[in-house]
Amino acid sequence: MGMQSDIKLIDENGLRIDGRKPDELRPIKIEVGVLNRADGSAYIEWGGNKILAAVYGPREAFPKHTQNPSRAIVNARYNMAAFSVDERKRPGPDRRAIEISKVISEALEASIFVEQFPRTSIDVYIEVLQADAGTRIAGLTAASVALADAGIPMKDLVVGCAAGKIDGKIVLDLNKEEDNYGEADLPLAIIPRTQEIVLMQMDGNMTREEVRQAIEMAKKAALFISNLQKEALRAKYEKGEIQKAEENLNAEVNKGE
Ligand code: UDP
Repeated sequence: MGMQSDIKLIDENGLRIDGRKPDELRPIKIEVGVLNRADGSAYIEWGGNKILAAVYGPREAFPKHTQNPSRAIVNARYNMAAFSVDERKRPGPDRRAIEISKVISEALEASIFVEQFPRTSIDVYIEVLQADAGTRIAGLTAASVALADAGIPMKDLVVGCAAGKIDGKIVLDLNKEEDNYGEADLPLAIIPRTQEIVLMQMDGNMTREEVRQAIEMAKKAALFISNLQKEALRAKYEKGEIQKAEENLNAEVNKGE
């Protein structure tokens, strides 16, 4: 953010370096249940981001002193693979990963009915395999799908998007160059059903009016992405139902022979 350069981020036709309009999202693809060992999982491709999310729990929290007798604790761990960025990232948690893990944990916790699972922990692992800006929101969006895949009751799927400012203009869903050379980035996540904002951060500078515009733009996009999350879940479970029905039919046919 805010790196000095002569790079023009918006051309004379009002398009961005990757050809998008100011309020256009990068392509998003979500897949559910991609891992067999975890209780729930999801994979998301969002522009150049590739991220896996896996969920374990609710299970007895360990060590015991971390247990809360009235509710579950939500532990999200955001990790960037060494090979996820241009310049090899030193493995292991850094300050940034610790911060992102904390804000993601809090955002997910706001939607989960944690009081239904006292003394337990819900562990969420977010592995960034390839990064291109916007990974905290893409990771959070995948994580909430993985929670649903694990059968964890929630108010709604948490979903988000970032908006920001480049070349003096408010735009949606910044990519890496825009994040590096733009003026501001504002990641936001909501619970669509209740309209609660569960994550909001800002890097760089915007006026009050620009912040308002960015929030509106990000919220609108989040509602669109919320449908992609639901479609991805439906695709897995409807496919599962069809498979089950076919197996039952085959079993019946075999019995009859
Ligand atoms: N990034 C990087 N190396 C790092 C951290 C971040 O190359 O150690 C890149 C990566 O592409 C990331 C982007 O910078 O997606 C923006 O990072 P930021 O901290 O703004 O978080 P994000 O936008 O991914 O949520």
